[in-house]
Amino acid sequence: MDGTALAAKLLDETTSRAQQFLADAGRKPCLATVLVGDDPASRTYVKMKMNRSAKAGIESVRNELPDTTTTRELVDHIEALSAGPAIDGILLQHPVPAQIDERAAFEAIAPHKDVDGVTMHSFASMAFGDTGFQSCTPGGIMRLIDAYDVDLTGARAVVIGRSPILGKPMGMLLLGRDATVTYCHSKTRDLPEIVAGADVVVAAVGKPEFVKGAWIKPGAVVIDAGYNPGNVGDVEYAGAAEAARLITPVPGGVGPMTIGVLLAQTVDAAYRRAARS
Ligand code: NAP
Repeated sequence: MDGTALAAKLLDETTSRAQQFLADAGRKPCLATVLVGDDPASRTYVKMKMNRSAKAGIESVRNELPDTTTTRELVDHIEALSAGPAIDGILLQHPVPAQIDERAAFEAIAPHKDVDGVTMHSFASMAFGDTGFQSCTPGGIMRLIDAYDVDLTGARAVVIGRSPILGKPMGMLLLGRDATVTYCHSKTRDLPEIVAGADVVVAAVGKPEFVKGAWIKPGAVVIDAGYNPGNVGDVEYAGAAEAARLITPVPGGVGPMTIGVLLAQTVDAAYRRAARS
């Protein structure tokens, strides 16, 4: 499943919509990025997101806070962005330094600016099938699944991982499309047997080649959301590709879709805000 090609198509559509928004509203859609501390990987991710924004005709406003930032300071900063008239979307780069309550910081993002889909409000929207914003990686995975015409109705879907921004919302989106969803996590027993019964497997574990090719049912659809050092996913690709009907590569599968959804949702947020005012 070619995430690079699908993400390029999504970015083209987003660029056209951002141009149209500029023509309609007299300004570009605007994304505020918030980076706390000096983690090099996080800095690279934020830079990448800002570069892609610029290419798509979305303005981005950089907010950098020191390593020593407290929860209160970060919450105050994000609340100011939430109230800011020039900002359409807010991205708080995960993870934040250990002394900060990340959940409190995420919840300071106004739901109508939560273009990264990280608030409880957005999670509830995904669970209830509402029109709120999706967590970007699960949202990107759903777009990939749809682009390849995977029929989810009644399909047995196994999600390995239950993090608040990936595994949990992924299962909710699959459930909303009538899949029969099983969540697996670090306490799950008999994981290979559970995976062997799956029509759709989503691996979101954060451990290189954790899901073995031998576990995959012939004809299954395998989505590898993992991204580990050395461009290695959470699935043993060669073995899984032999059994699977469809599989995402790493890199070039799920990864590119995540930024694509972030930018698409930023333009959505800009239009929704403009419609409200
Ligand atoms: P996370 O917060 O560390 O969550 C990992 C999940 O895996 C947890 O729910 C954990 O279970 C589960 N797990 C750990 N060991 C397990 C085991 N032995 N058996 C079954 N489940 C196990 O990670 P995350 O943020 O969800 O990210 C997961 C992966 O996706 C990482 O490789 C990350 O780099 C990648 N990712 C990619 C993108 C992208 O844009 N492509 C975006 C986000 C993340 P417990 O809950 O029981 O601890």
